[in-house]
Amino acid sequence: MAEYEYETHEYDVVVVGAGGAGLRATLGMAEQGLKTACVTKVFPTRSHTVAAQGGIAASLSNMGPDNWQWHMYDTVKGSDWLGDTDAMEYLAREAPAAVYELEHYGVPFSRTEEGKIYQRPFGGHTTEFGEGPAVQRTCAAADRTGHAILHTLYGQSLKNNAEFYIEYFAIDLLMSEDGKCEGVLCWKLDDGTMHVFAAKMVVLATGGYGRAYFSATSAHTCTGDGGGMVARAGLPLQDMEFVQFHPTGIYGSGCLITEGARGEGGYLTNSEGERFMERYAPQYKDLAPRDYVSRSMTMEIREGRGVGENGDHIHLNLSHLPAEALAERLPGISESAKIFAGVDVTKEPIPVLPTVHYNMGGIPTNYYGEVLNPTKDDPNAVVPGLMAVGEAGCASVHGANRLGSNSLIDLVVFGRAAAIRAGDVVDRNSSVPTPRVSEIDKALERFDGLRNASGGTPTADLRLEMQRTMQEDAAVFRTDETLKAGVAKMTDIAAKLDHLKVTDRSLVWNSDLMETLELTNLMPNALATITGAEARKESRGAHASEDHSSRDDDEWRKHTIARVEGNKVALSYRPVILDPLTTEDAGGIALKKIAPKARTF
Ligand SMILES: Cc1cc2nc3c(=O)[nH]c(=O)nc-3n(C[C@H](O)[C@H](O)[C@H](O)COP(=O)(O)OP(=O)(O)OC[C@H]3O[C@@H](n4cnc5c(N)ncnc54)[C@H](O)[C@@H]3O)c2cc1C
Repeated sequence: MAEYEYETHEYDVVVVGAGGAGLRATLGMAEQGLKTACVTKVFPTRSHTVAAQGGIAASLSNMGPDNWQWHMYDTVKGSDWLGDTDAMEYLAREAPAAVYELEHYGVPFSRTEEGKIYQRPFGGHTTEFGEGPAVQRTCAAADRTGHAILHTLYGQSLKNNAEFYIEYFAIDLLMSEDGKCEGVLCWKLDDGTMHVFAAKMVVLATGGYGRAYFSATSAHTCTGDGGGMVARAGLPLQDMEFVQFHPTGIYGSGCLITEGARGEGGYLTNSEGERFMERYAPQYKDLAPRDYVSRSMTMEIREGRGVGENGDHIHLNLSHLPAEALAERLPGISESAKIFAGVDVTKEPIPVLPTVHYNMGGIPTNYYGEVLNPTKDDPNAVVPGLMAVGEAGCASVHGANRLGSNSLIDLVVFGRAAAIRAGDVVDRNSSVPTPRVSEIDKALERFDGLRNASGGTPTADLRLEMQRTMQEDAAVFRTDETLKAGVAKMTDIAAKLDHLKVTDRSLVWNSDLMETLELTNLMPNALATITGAEARKESRGAHASEDHSSRDDDEWRKHTIARVEGNKVALSYRPVILDPLTTEDAGGIALKKIAPKARTF
């Protein structure tokens, strides 16, 4: 192996990732007086959170009656009863305070006439425990909510003296012999130097792994690096089979049209011009949750009622809405529709198709953001020194299906929760751990092996093979047969990681090597996804099996735990947490109401 020198940095806390979750955690840690570094492979405000359009859910009741118990109920039902009840309660209860905090930090929310934060309806958000009409719960800054949040949080983090290491790529976690996380090894992309970040607490906020699929709304940087690092450290991933397809990706490019478009009154039609959602979801129609709408669209296409030359997509209609409303509330998507589909939304419908959008699964955590490594005796055993927040984590508040606008609120509520917890458990006066040299060497060896990889398969070719297989065999509808074939294909594809070919051997701005490292992270995420899906013999949320079409709570109301080693996945299961945090208000009102039942809309 080539000799690599490295510089060592010591911190109380190192946050990996500067999206909404990473920045909210960084800001909170700094506010707690912890010496905090934030490491990120892209400039903070280029993180995928910047692309979030529609908004952030919180029961502010600015546009009609609402309360956190209704929000909690909708989240439980949206999760198809797979989420952990304590975490879902925490999310819904803390959401209003977290949004007001964002407002006070300076997020420029859209306003009602009285000057309150504007809220729009989103799928699956209802009143009266699913028995009343849709509610306006999604707080929005036009259709650029993520952009507004990210810029504000970055400014606030700087103000609180958090230190940023920008364009540093985290390669691997550095674990102690007894399973504690002691730091992370990073590669500085612009000069090729290596850096050991030793810390009392490492927080993974690396985002999702949408790019394991061929067509995704997420940025090319969403490569599940946190999941890859965790898998290599011998730690598990949870509920990976639940991948959300957003109903309205622009046909062809996959670029997102926010659910806010339907929230503002847009609707879907088939080749007969029929508003078909009225048939599938008589009560909430186009605002049924995403898994439901995506499946309905797929059924229409399969039954020959798709639009376009090949009958392979659906129309999203906005042209009946006043042009001023489109310009004020949905300016970003009007522009996207023009650029990516050549459509003027004031005159024509947008061609759309369900597209991979969000990963419900991730690194298992409790509602403090602490990473879990379940054992036989303790399904909720904590990994010391390691936290995960945001889309990389799985708290689990989204269970089998996430409600629109529940991710942005997850980022800020749990980013903040992680900081509060770290404030309690990190001893400011203790010394920073010294990561083992053997761990650093192991990570450097892996890096060096990839840098000098001289096999027969270029990274881009293997990535494409993986993406096409996932798109074909782990899609909206799944069968035992396609999943079985998919697992076999993915096992072979993952084995080819040992025969990669990297052509650029340099250390400075080597995108070939960076994409190769990313592929080694995407692969364990993808393997866990398809293997977990093959094993789960039921339909729940985003996992729709044609061979097992109903939900089976007796057998399958449990979290999938996947441990990936090389191209092998070992599965086990962890009980869903059924008890809420508080018995008075949550238990009294919500618990009785949230016993599992059929999920209809
Ligand atoms: C187009 C689009 C629109 C959306 N709209 C909404 C919406 O309106 N409402 C809603 O609730 N949700 C929405 N979502 C979902 C939501 O935006 C995401 O789930 C969320 O932003 C993820 O945030 P995050 O902080 O977890 O990760 P990200 O924002 O993806 O950030 C990940 C960070 O990790 C860093 N990183 C990753 N790997 C490494 C590494 N190896 N080394 C160093 N740094 C690394 C990156 O540099 C980046 O800073 C949308 C998603 C998409 C794709």
